[in-house]
Amino acid sequence: MTMNAQESRVVGGVPTGLLIGGEWRRARSGNELKVEDPATGEVIASVADAGPDDALDALEAATRAQASWAATAPRFRAEILRSAYEKIMAQQEELALLMTLEMGKPVAESKGEVAYAAEFFRWFSEEAVRIKGEYYRSPDGLTKVLTSRSPVGPSYMITPWNFPLAMGTRKMGPALAAGCTVILKPAEQTPLCSLALGSILIDAGLPAGVLNIVTTSQPGEVTDRLIDDARLRKLSFTGSTEVGKMLMRKASTNLLRLSMELGGNAPLIVFSDADLDKAVPGAIFAKMRNGGEACTSANRILVHKDLAGAFTERLSDELSKMKVARGTVTGAQVGPLIDQDALIKVTGLLEDATAAGGKVLTGGSRIGESGYFYAPTVIAGVPRSARIFREEIFGPVAPVYTFDDDDEAYSVANDTNYGLVSYIFTESFKRVHQAIDALQSGMVGVNQGLVSNAAAPFGGVKHSGFGREGGFEGINEYLDVKYAALNLS
Ligand code: NAP
Repeated sequence: MTMNAQESRVVGGVPTGLLIGGEWRRARSGNELKVEDPATGEVIASVADAGPDDALDALEAATRAQASWAATAPRFRAEILRSAYEKIMAQQEELALLMTLEMGKPVAESKGEVAYAAEFFRWFSEEAVRIKGEYYRSPDGLTKVLTSRSPVGPSYMITPWNFPLAMGTRKMGPALAAGCTVILKPAEQTPLCSLALGSILIDAGLPAGVLNIVTTSQPGEVTDRLIDDARLRKLSFTGSTEVGKMLMRKASTNLLRLSMELGGNAPLIVFSDADLDKAVPGAIFAKMRNGGEACTSANRILVHKDLAGAFTERLSDELSKMKVARGTVTGAQVGPLIDQDALIKVTGLLEDATAAGGKVLTGGSRIGESGYFYAPTVIAGVPRSARIFREEIFGPVAPVYTFDDDDEAYSVANDTNYGLVSYIFTESFKRVHQAIDALQSGMVGVNQGLVSNAAAPFGGVKHSGFGREGGFEGINEYLDVKYAALNLS
């Protein structure tokens, strides 16, 4: 790696330039974009603001590096990923602080995300050496079928701000393991974690051009330039369903391989036989992790009528005691929302829900005047016609609905275009299996409010997208299958 101080700066140990072809450099225009601390609204850093020409430079570098990276020994790629895992964990505290400063979540949660993010590099370092093909006799007995798997090629990754490190490693881990070169475009609100990650991967020995990072305030223009170029072979997107659909249409021009990790509207069902000592903490975790700013966040809490009173009371009591503060404050449990737009959205959803008849049991308003803090909120009695039932809340608001029987619970849970994750709480083995079959989602959390795990396939159905990240499946998103018909007679 070269670092020319005149071309690119380093702030607090984090490069602020674009990573292109193994070098950190300024945007061609010289423009920079500002990064804000959402707890104060203050600017904490400026990073290079790439335009479409910079993006093409990144694609050029990724294309140049593709053949030699694909030809490396799987063990070579595995060792780099493993080394990057170790380096991330060695810097867990520093990376967590950086994450909290740009994204706002409490430092304890940031530390958790750093470990989760690093785990994708460890997991895929182990998968890199297990890329397999098959060899078998065809049914007519006349030929042999030989399959092998090769990297799809230069891959473009677009990530959101809510998990600034993990959304990148979840894509980069399998792509690098498979032998693909990468162009990463992090969200403009949280570029610093990705830039720090780039530095770590270079230190871990990643060859020049294998990873390129483009930070930009022009996501549309930069992306259009890349996906219009036939050298790009893959687009992996995590973000809103609306942007995902638009990108799918554009990606049809060059028939890109696609992975789409999109929005969610997760139901969390508390069945009549649930243990509230599991269901209440599980619901709090599923709702309040990341301040509710997660695609997996419990968006609709459905409680059997017999438990609704006790459950709602306990949930409201616990949420009212949560400490809302800047993420760096000791004991902070809920940080600020990401920005003013997020605050306006959450406020608007609450106003609509109360106008429709919902009753706020705790919270229900912004906290303070600076930063974008919102009180942990429980609202009950909202009709399904309200916006909050259909839209992602992306904030610390827990709407509670009641149901009479299991069929009604499934019908309400599936009454959404989304299908990322569902959560269920029950002590019945039979119900667990019925629910797994009945719920239209890519993942189901059973008696726990967390499904994220590098060793498991994360992903959705319906308008939550397609493709899987993590698990044994994750690497296939970056591999093409080649089949040879062998006539050995
Ligand atoms: P978003 O607006 O769709 O942005 C996500 C990414 O797309 C950002 O990097 C953004 O860049 C970029 N982008 C925006 N417009 C674009 C365009 N026209 N062309 C190319 N890229 C574009 O979503 P968000 O509000 O940041 O993130 C929250 C959403 O992500 C929620 O819907 C959430 O459910 C979803 N999410 C899903 C998963 C999952 O695994 N399923 C995980 C996390 C989040 P800028 O930052 O410059 O706008």
